[in-house]
Amino acid sequence: MYDSNTIDLILQNADITDIIGESVKLEKEGSRYKGLCPFHDERTPSFVVYPQTNTCKCYGCGKHFNVIGYVMEKEHMTFPKTVRYLGRRYGIDVKEHEESQEEQSSRMKKEALKGCLKAVSVFYRQQFLIKNRSASCENSVSTYFLAIEKGTNVGLHFLLSLFGHSGLSRWIIYAINYISIN
Ligand SMILES: [Zn+2]
Repeated sequence: MYDSNTIDLILQNADITDIIGESVKLEKEGSRYKGLCPFHDERTPSFVVYPQTNTCKCYGCGKHFNVIGYVMEKEHMTFPKTVRYLGRRYGIDVKEHEESQEEQSSRMKKEALKGCLKAVSVFYRQQFLIKNRSASCENSVSTYFLAIEKGTNVGLHFLLSLFGHSGLSRWIIYAINYISIN
């Protein structure tokens, strides 16, 4: 656990242009920089770096990150490892704060809910795909189930079409909200 101040300091001070510039050839274009996207194959640059906000966005594949997200994605590093790495690199004292009991129980509840969501999603996705063997709906349905698995928001109409106004629909919505808010 890091205090939010440490994260803010890193987001403001770790120089995204500098970091991206190590592996992507960047051309200055007004107040921003442009280069070939490191996350998809392309011949004309659609990857834009915004030094003012310390963020980047690819207008080809749609990926966009702040400096921490970029390093995590590019170097396949976890959040804590990235924070420690950027802290060292930019001379920011990375303070880890001890988890309070409340935070600990919230984290454990979140992890448990995530595990349940995953199990529910895997089970019902298989059931659904057994019943509906059409390749055309498979993709979009899989996307929805993956969203449930990750605890990210999923279309309400999808849940209702699958489970109706049932306890399960309500529980999934509750779990997703709990995970994303806490
Ligand atoms: Zn891209």
